[in-house]
Amino acid sequence: MSHHQTSTRSATAAAVLATMLAAVGCEAGAPSEHVSSTTGLETSGPFGNTDGPETSSAAGSGTASTAHGASADSTGVTSHLGTDSGDDGDSGGDTSACDDAKNPFNPAAGELGHSQIAHWKYGRSAVLTINFDDSTPGQAQIGVPAMVERGLVGTWFVNPGVLAYQDNEATWTEIAPSSFQELANHTMDHAGAANYAEAEFQVGEAAAIIRSAYPSDRSPLMAFNNGGGTTWNISDAEYQELLAEHHQVERVHSSGIAPATPGADMFTDLKAYMQAQTPADDWARIHFHGICSPNDTVNCVCDTPGQSSNCREFRVSQVNNGAVRSTDFLYFLDQVSSDAYFSEEVWVAGFASAHKYQQARPVSQGVVLTADDTGIELCLVSELDGGLYDEALTVMTEVPAQWNGCTATQEGQSMTCRMSGATAHFEARIDRGPITLAPS
Ligand SMILES: [Zn+2]
Repeated sequence: MSHHQTSTRSATAAAVLATMLAAVGCEAGAPSEHVSSTTGLETSGPFGNTDGPETSSAAGSGTASTAHGASADSTGVTSHLGTDSGDDGDSGGDTSACDDAKNPFNPAAGELGHSQIAHWKYGRSAVLTINFDDSTPGQAQIGVPAMVERGLVGTWFVNPGVLAYQDNEATWTEIAPSSFQELANHTMDHAGAANYAEAEFQVGEAAAIIRSAYPSDRSPLMAFNNGGGTTWNISDAEYQELLAEHHQVERVHSSGIAPATPGADMFTDLKAYMQAQTPADDWARIHFHGICSPNDTVNCVCDTPGQSSNCREFRVSQVNNGAVRSTDFLYFLDQVSSDAYFSEEVWVAGFASAHKYQQARPVSQGVVLTADDTGIELCLVSELDGGLYDEALTVMTEVPAQWNGCTATQEGQSMTCRMSGATAHFEARIDRGPITLAPS
């Protein structure tokens, strides 16, 4: 499956590029590439819009994965510039300009159109995924509204078959998806599987229910966790096959921040942890179970009053312990949403979104169709399937020095570039046709 592809980059630059170009818009069976007219590059729906408020300035931190590989193409700059005028003024959505391009290439650094992909979206230096397990009542009633209110995106690992989910079904099927929250698969019943048929149901049925909450043209790829303490009586090969069949991306471990601690400590610990990370390990993960109001003695009980790690929610007590007190949880969110480090350096994203970006980053690149002082047209090509990897990437393209600003347009959707000297920063998607940069 495409999401298991890894970059080999063993072929020559030209061969790699040819493969990438051939793949643009040509995946059989890929989901529709239609993007509704109400969705822009920045607000593309639950799986596309994974960031909080867009506050990035001309970010451009030093961490970029160079989109190298094709710049040595013998076609050279002068032989190419201006030779392809067939798609000027393109109205958007036409991927053929990228398919049909003759001799597209990524110019060398310092040349017009040279493009790099930012290490993380908006040039942020790290990503944080805030994960929630078990679709508890406290998550639905306190967690989702609190995240939405602060413009934060959470990843909600839900169990559609359990009462806790069904008690708050509208939150999981309507409110969270329409608020750009990312739902993820925690299996139907959090019960493991005695055989393959049960495993298929636990994974596949939950995946189908979650997908049905989103527009049908979203990527089917989603985050997955099989439920702590469960037993899966199938072989490793069967298990992997099942995940691949349903486009499930298994969650890696959380980063060691214990949620069930006072909110101030939680935030301090997380920030210190993240700031100590290297670029090779710059994806922090924290996850929550129950969220309990200290005043709620109906749905929530604490074995030791005042000690949140001993709290649990009644409806999910069989699978949930270590609830966080809502006061601590809200304090933590307030810190994350107001702290300068998080707002300037951290991309708070859904798990699948971060995964898509991370996977696409090293195997995608911008290639130029045309470039001169009046405009630049480029394609974002990738070894991956754009139907699955639909998270917009942040592209940094060198533009004429005299441009004070620019507008980037793809599929008829325009956005204002963020400028860093003569480099324009903008978001674009692979396999979605040409991106036009025009001075503004
Ligand atoms: Zn769980």
